[in-house]
Amino acid sequence: MMMHDGSGNGLYIQTPIAESQPLNARAGRRVLFKMECHQPSGSFKMRGVSHLMSTHKEAGVTQFISSSGGNAGLAVAHCAARLGVSATVFVPDTTSLHVRGLLAGLGADVRVAGSVWNEADAAARALRASSDAIYVSPFDDPLLWEGHSTMIDEAAVQMDRPDAVIVSVGGGGMMCGVLQGMHRNGWADVPVVAVETDGAASFAAAVAAGRPVSIGAITSIAKTLGSLQVADAAFEWTKRHDIRSAVLSDRQAIQGCLAFADDLHVLVEPACGVSVALAEQGHPALGDAGTVLVIACGGSAVSARQTGEWALAEATA
Ligand SMILES: *Cc1c(COP(=O)(O)O)cnc(C)c1O
Repeated sequence: MMMHDGSGNGLYIQTPIAESQPLNARAGRRVLFKMECHQPSGSFKMRGVSHLMSTHKEAGVTQFISSSGGNAGLAVAHCAARLGVSATVFVPDTTSLHVRGLLAGLGADVRVAGSVWNEADAAARALRASSDAIYVSPFDDPLLWEGHSTMIDEAAVQMDRPDAVIVSVGGGGMMCGVLQGMHRNGWADVPVVAVETDGAASFAAAVAAGRPVSIGAITSIAKTLGSLQVADAAFEWTKRHDIRSAVLSDRQAIQGCLAFADDLHVLVEPACGVSVALAEQGHPALGDAGTVLVIACGGSAVSARQTGEWALAEATA
C-alpha cells in the first residue's frame, strides 16, 4: 500500500480517525480509531522509524541495520528505499519467504541468521560494531518515541479529548510515543489502557514485579507483541501517568481482528485486534469512559486467507 501526502518528514502519512456505528452500538460507547494501519509500511512503526532514520541521514549516515522480520523491519526497508540509503535486515530462518520477499522487493539486503530473533539480533549488533551503520531498535529509542508521538499531535486537532486511550504494548515504544504526545497536547490526565495478550504480557509482568522483567517465552499468537521484556522507559511512565494494564486472550484478539474487518473493512494483526477487542467487548479498565481512542496500529502479518480461517473457526466454535 503506497499513499504519500507529504506529512511531517514526508515518509509517514497523516491518518484519519474512523468509527463504526454498529461497533459503537455493541461497545455501548463511542470508539474512535486512529488508522495507523494505513501507514505506507502497514503499521504505526513508519512514524518512529522514519523520524529516526531521517534524523541520522541528515547527520550523514547512509547505512542502517535492523533485526526485525516484522513490522519494524518493513518500516526500515520502506524508509531506506524512500531516503536512498541502504538497509540490512537480519531475520531468523523462521521468517516466512513471503516477508523475506517483501523486504528484498523494497531493496533491503536480507540476511538469515539463526533460528530465533535473539540470534538474528546478535548478528545485527555484530555488523554494527564493525561498520558505520546505525542499528534501528524496534521499540527502544527516544527518536522512535518522538516520531510515534506525532499521531497524537494529529488526533488532538482531529477530535475532542477522549476519556481513555487504548494502546497495544509489545516492547512499549508505541506507548512511550503516545504518552509523549498526550502530555504535549494537554491530555496528561487522560488514562491509558495498555493492552497485551496472555502469553506476551511483558508490561503486565513489569507492573506486577515493580520493574521490567523477562517473561521467559512468548506463547501468544500475537508475535508482534512478543517482546520478552518492556523498555525501561515504558515502565517509568507508570510513575507519571494513570496507565492501566489489561491482558486479553488470543481468542479475544482474533475477535477484535474480525470486528475490525467487518466494521472498518481493514485487515489487522492480533497485535492490533487485541486493542479493538478491549474497546468493543468492554473491560473494567475503561471505567465509565464515554469516548475512547484506540490506536489501530495495523500490522502486515495478516492475510485474507488467515482472517477467513479465523472467521470460520469462530463461526463453528
Ligand atoms: C510493533 C507493533 C506493536 C507493539 O509496539 P511496541 O512499540 O513494541 O510496544 C503493536 N502492534 C503492531 C502492529 C506493531 O507493529
